[in-house]
Amino acid sequence: VAQATRRAGIVVTGTEVLTGRVADKNGPWLAEQLRLIGVDIAHVVQVGDRPDDLRNSLQFLVDRGLDLIITSGGLGPTADDLTAEIVGSFQGRPSRLDVALEARIADIVTRISAGRGWRTDPEATAAGTRKQALVPDGASVLAPVGTAPGLIVPPADGAAGAPIVVLPGPPRELQGMWDAVLASPIVQDAIRGRDELRQQTMRLWGVPESQLAATLRAHDDAFGGLEITTCLRGGELEIVTRYAPPAQAAYDELEKAVAADFAPELFSTDGRTVEDIVADELIARGLTIATAESCTAGGLASRLTDRPGSSAYLVGGLVVYSNEMKTQLAGVPAELIERVGAVSAEVALALAEGARDRLGTDLGVGITGIAGPDGGTAEKPVGLVHFCVASAQEPLSRKVIVPGSRADVRARSVTIALHMVRQVLESG
Ligand code: ATP
Ligand code: MG
Repeated sequence: VAQATRRAGIVVTGTEVLTGRVADKNGPWLAEQLRLIGVDIAHVVQVGDRPDDLRNSLQFLVDRGLDLIITSGGLGPTADDLTAEIVGSFQGRPSRLDVALEARIADIVTRISAGRGWRTDPEATAAGTRKQALVPDGASVLAPVGTAPGLIVPPADGAAGAPIVVLPGPPRELQGMWDAVLASPIVQDAIRGRDELRQQTMRLWGVPESQLAATLRAHDDAFGGLEITTCLRGGELEIVTRYAPPAQAAYDELEKAVAADFAPELFSTDGRTVEDIVADELIARGLTIATAESCTAGGLASRLTDRPGSSAYLVGGLVVYSNEMKTQLAGVPAELIERVGAVSAEVALALAEGARDRLGTDLGVGITGIAGPDGGTAEKPVGLVHFCVASAQEPLSRKVIVPGSRADVRARSVTIALHMVRQVLESG
């Protein structure tokens, strides 16, 4: 079988997604599932609930010569849910009522309505059910996870084009149908003979993108067959590389070049995030951590608990917004705050040690800064944040002027603190 790249396109429907009221979860989820089976994603198109826009985006994707097209949304019982019918007519396959399917959906709807105590109008329910049971000629039906069945609609017999997989909008329902999509012979046929598609992620901390660009340029000729994307996110530089198996040696070269040029900054080559690494290290060594946060007000403690099992290392956190609470809860001397100010290296140190002492942990983290937009001075501008990680070693202190809005300063400060904890753990 000839090896080749198989490519897919996705149409995400729904005016609520198009206008940004609901953030699209289905495009990214489908893109990752497709990558896992070696199918590259060419386009994700978002459209509102308008027949012409949906038809045009299907045509756009078919014109690109893609192997598979997937739609999400618009399978409900209401009149604005049009996807199944439009896809059917687009593929030249008129729809017909599937009586068995109609009975099955009616059954589900009755059960759900009874369970939730909803008042239903039998006639309206029947109309909605009948609509959802219309199946294009020659299409396969995917069993409903909610009430709406999915569809796999091949192109008209003898016509060029791609099979269109029609999935419901609610992410839980769409995801619940995915195994059935992969099991479908029509889909398997469309993606047969595909190459494996590998993806690797490197993460760096404290490197401007321009520096990395220089490294990539210097080794340009060695990196054939790699699709390298770099993305700067919250101060971390992420390098995601996709390639087919024959380019593995080229990828190994890339990783070597980045590791050589950025040894101190490269903190992850296996896909782990900074919180993964911090959690893994704390667990591996049986260490505990506590926080005393002013401007981030618990943001660090919150991120430290994103992973299940975090009680193994996070003991607790103090939110000490006022000076009084810095003194009362974290034991920062009032005289010290009076003398050097709450936003200072000294107070960050006292917070870190206070968290460690009062909560009885191996590590303590202190954060104090000016998130803005007001409250800055020439000496202490908005974005000035002092950090400290106290441990059995020398405390690690940093002062950073974090750029951006109030939300940026707070989020970025949490990331900086996490990297400082990682550095302390890695250094001993
Ligand atoms: P329903 O029977 O619920 O109407 P449907 O297949 O018609 O199902 P939609 O009407 O498009 O789906 O979407 C139903 C709800 O699912 C939306 O209001 C939204 O909350 C969620 N949803 C739809 N599409 C997406 C998406 N791409 N990302 C995240 N959530 C989505
Ligand atoms: Mg709907």
